[in-house]
Amino acid sequence: MLELNDITVFYGKHLAVDTVNITLAKGEIVVVLGANGAGKSTMLKAVAGMVPIATGTVAIDGQIFNGIPAHQIPDKGIAFVPEGRGVVGQMTVEENLRLGATPARARAFEDETLEQVFDIFPRLKERQNQFVQTMSGGEQRMVEVGRAMMAKPEFLLLDEPSLGLAPIIVGDMFKALDRVRETGVGLLIVEQNVKISLRHADRGYLLEAGRITGSGSSQELINDAAVRQAFLGGD
Ligand code: ATP
Repeated sequence: MLELNDITVFYGKHLAVDTVNITLAKGEIVVVLGANGAGKSTMLKAVAGMVPIATGTVAIDGQIFNGIPAHQIPDKGIAFVPEGRGVVGQMTVEENLRLGATPARARAFEDETLEQVFDIFPRLKERQNQFVQTMSGGEQRMVEVGRAMMAKPEFLLLDEPSLGLAPIIVGDMFKALDRVRETGVGLLIVEQNVKISLRHADRGYLLEAGRITGSGSSQELINDAAVRQAFLGGD
């Protein structure tokens, strides 16, 4: 179980994440919904060791790990796919994927995990030897998710996995994320695409101005008047 316990993050004097509590079990998909600037990316970056946590703890199965540098986070079983393109354009799909197998326990299973990634993203297998810079935005996003899987994480943090993808590709991406979950990985997803993310998530939280203002099962959130008003066009 990944737990964020009362975590608080400041940028200077600006309180970006305010005593946030979130839990994520292995094999679960949890989505965090919130408007622009609500603090969603900051919350993920805090877990990934990329911004300092002022107060509170982040723990896996009760073992606190906040304060360790970002490059040691994969060793803790956490992989982070930030917003935006993080691929190496001048390398092939396979080379990019293999870059993700950095933790010692992932290296031992590198070829096996690569096959698993190709099974989940057949398009990446088809384009295994293609330079990533020649691929579409959606395919590059798949490379990023695949590379995160190569670290054999127990928990995968995804910042806007569907951002900038064509609608038909968004569906493919979420189907792939369902398959990742089936391998036992817990997924914490921050998404603007509320409708599809709630369709695939088990549970969700609402984040407003850095604070959790609501939570529930996906069905509860879909039926929630405030969620419908804010994110689902009020219909
Ligand atoms: P978006 O969907 O627009 O990325 P978000 O919910 O992910 O929004 P954050 O990016 O986490 O929100 O930003 C939370 C708050 O912190 C915002 O008010 C933002 O302006 C501020 N902020 C984010 N990054 C920094 C930074 N590096 N320095 C100072 N303030 C920042």
